Amino acid sequence: MDDDIRITGVMVYYYFVCKRKLWYFKHEIQMEQGNEAVKIGKLLDETSYGRENKHINIDQTINIDFIRESNVLHEVKKSKKIEEASVWQVKYYLYYLKKKGMDCVTGKIDYPLLKKSVTVELQDEDVLKMEEVLSDIKQIIGQSLPDEARRKNICKSCAYFDLCFI
Ligand code: SF4
Repeated sequence: MDDDIRITGVMVYYYFVCKRKLWYFKHEIQMEQGNEAVKIGKLLDETSYGRENKHINIDQTINIDFIRESNVLHEVKKSKKIEEASVWQVKYYLYYLKKKGMDCVTGKIDYPLLKKSVTVELQDEDVLKMEEVLSDIKQIIGQSLPDEARRKNICKSCAYFDLCFI
């Protein structure tokens, strides 16, 4: 990546979840520690796919849950609730690897609690959209204040709820 702003997979995920959350995250306003959903996610991470070589960090930018043979990278999620965000997080990993010359990789989102997985591929049109998303992310995190809080279904389970609405 040719830019000085490091965009992580989590930032791409938050972009699709909530742009305000993305801003909080980038500005190091953290409230996730005590959140129940986060605790479940961590437990799942520790107990799933125990024999795999987990958390492959590339350039301190993307953190792949694990890679299996046949060049398939895996991202583990606990629910399909915000699947679009998960899909774009994985597409970002594929995009990032493609930029580094590795374009024979595909992705998979695993839902161990649901015993399901979804295949993710990076299409040509995704590359264009990804570039727009990355440019938008840079604009959002460069703002001095976050976007206005707009209530949505996920807000009630979000760690930042009090900060946004109370
Ligand atoms: S509470 Fe809602 S608006 Fe606030 S950061 Fe979370 S998801 Fe975004």
